[in-house]
Amino acid sequence: MPRLKIFLVFSFLCMLHPAANAADAPRTLPVLKMFKEVAALPDGRWLVVDKRAVRLLDQQGAEQGSLAVRAQHLDTRVLPDGVLAAVFDADKQQPLLLRVDAKRLRLDKQLAPVDFALDSMCLYRDAQQLNHLFLIAKDGQAEQWLLAGNAPKRLRRLALPPGVESCRADDARQALYVSEAGFGVWRYAANGEGIPERALLLGRRPHGDIAGEPGALAVLPHGIAVIDSNGGEVHLLDHDGNFLPQQLWLKSAEALAFAGSDLLVLDGKGWQAHALTGGTQVQEKAQPLPVVVARGQTETVARSGDAADDPAIWVHPQHPAQSRIIATNKKQGLLSYDLKGRQLQLLEAGRLNNVDVRQNIAWPGGKADLAVATQRDEAALAVFEIGRDGRIRDAGRVATGLNDIYGTCLYQPPGGGLEVFANDKDGRIEHYRIERVKGGYQGKLLRAFSVDSQPEGCVVDDHVGRLFVGEEKHGIWAMPASAGATEAPQLVMPVGEQLVADVEGLALYHGQGASYLVASSQGNSSYVVLDAQPPYAYRGAFRIGINADAGIDGVSDTDGLEVSAVDFGGAFRKGLLVVQDGYKRLPDGAQNFKYVAWEDIARALNLP
Ligand code: CA
Ligand code: CA
Ligand code: CA
Ligand code: CA
Repeated sequence: MPRLKIFLVFSFLCMLHPAANAADAPRTLPVLKMFKEVAALPDGRWLVVDKRAVRLLDQQGAEQGSLAVRAQHLDTRVLPDGVLAAVFDADKQQPLLLRVDAKRLRLDKQLAPVDFALDSMCLYRDAQQLNHLFLIAKDGQAEQWLLAGNAPKRLRRLALPPGVESCRADDARQALYVSEAGFGVWRYAANGEGIPERALLLGRRPHGDIAGEPGALAVLPHGIAVIDSNGGEVHLLDHDGNFLPQQLWLKSAEALAFAGSDLLVLDGKGWQAHALTGGTQVQEKAQPLPVVVARGQTETVARSGDAADDPAIWVHPQHPAQSRIIATNKKQGLLSYDLKGRQLQLLEAGRLNNVDVRQNIAWPGGKADLAVATQRDEAALAVFEIGRDGRIRDAGRVATGLNDIYGTCLYQPPGGGLEVFANDKDGRIEHYRIERVKGGYQGKLLRAFSVDSQPEGCVVDDHVGRLFVGEEKHGIWAMPASAGATEAPQLVMPVGEQLVADVEGLALYHGQGASYLVASSQGNSSYVVLDAQPPYAYRGAFRIGINADAGIDGVSDTDGLEVSAVDFGGAFRKGLLVVQDGYKRLPDGAQNFKYVAWEDIARALNLP
């Protein structure tokens, strides 16, 4: 009974939209003959593929150039300086990148031959206007290649369905559409960060509405077109997979292309242009956040999965360029890196979550630098002494009354010594004074209070004695850091459109003229910058994108972060932001930390 369902959908659409089927008759495009694949160029010319070559045709179909290659999987993108085309050389098993300018077609770059049976291939242009290429193997194993920078680099491997008939990316939506033979059409996040979310847009029964086989895809301004290769029909869907009012009821569609406002369909008689009706406008999207790129990154941590968590910065007293990034691997211990990202030390101190550093702590017997981290197995604070050269030494534990210790931050009160805030996933926050005792350290509980739900990130502004606490699903609070103060906590910024849950790492930038609070807005992989003083004005937000030239991937899903306004030299003359990166790419691997120049952030947000 497969025909029946289709017929019902058809009748239903006709009742709703009596004009839908009376659209203008398709126009035949004789210049495209019976070429298996075609792409329309913005100036009216064509790129076409036949068994022997890729050919550039002018508007009248006269050949302007060709490349003798048995090509498949043609896809194109319009760039500011011409057209980028990708094809797969079926003889050499090699993806080729071609460029078309006003005069000619030429081979630009070639990727290494693939060592798998390629099923499908398509281009993607990301929000930073960097080009990518998806290579999809028969068994569903896929690779995403970054085409920017001096040579193409593999951004990541990913898993897609087996038997992909066709793939196409929708750049405006950062979506990758793939049609899975015998099953349906999926939409994946095309962005290389994160675990690709997917949605089934069109399913073969019993998973969805169609009876046939989803095949070739084309991206339209208002949705996608899919050949149902059982009967050669073409379904037009919106971006969420709903049938559009206009449907094409063809008998033998074999290939698709989009041109201007037409859907081009190859059937038994040649290429036909079908005028698309309704809703062809691309929806205006909200202004995207500015993007900065990392200038450096650390080596990857030695544990896979979500392992790297929270950084701190130790500033070398004489030579800031020899400063250290001290960071936690929550499956292994404490790490130390130099400003080039090289790992200098690993202290296997167990499941450390957050870490903070204070320097020149005035103790009765002299000054010292300490790092303090939350130790989750022991529900304790792990104390580390930092030598004058940055060398770290495990200096013992301070017990707490918490069960599930999580975030922590340090406070140097005006009277000297060191205080620490440690929080529990249940919302409790304990405030201790750290005391030096023979052979180690101990904590004296000053007070305990709580927020309503899980906190983690926190930071103290020592200059003004203010504690900021992130309540992950709720927002950022400010309150006095001094145990004796009685002012009520103030909500600095609630979770919302700009600060998207979870609120994660918090850090303070104390610049020449102004101090800023930086927060990890983990839910949308961005960073929010606020004035560190009331009324905590919003200064903007940014994302961290791909540094193609340096081969550093973008940053997403950040847990902890730390910032310093110290002049570290080089790119970091105005200071340095260190962020945990949830997904290491270029290539994929264990997590690491990225180094961002404050200068780049200040420029992106127009900060003084
Ligand atoms: Ca994480
Ligand atoms: Ca930290
Ligand atoms: Ca968290
Ligand atoms: Ca990343």
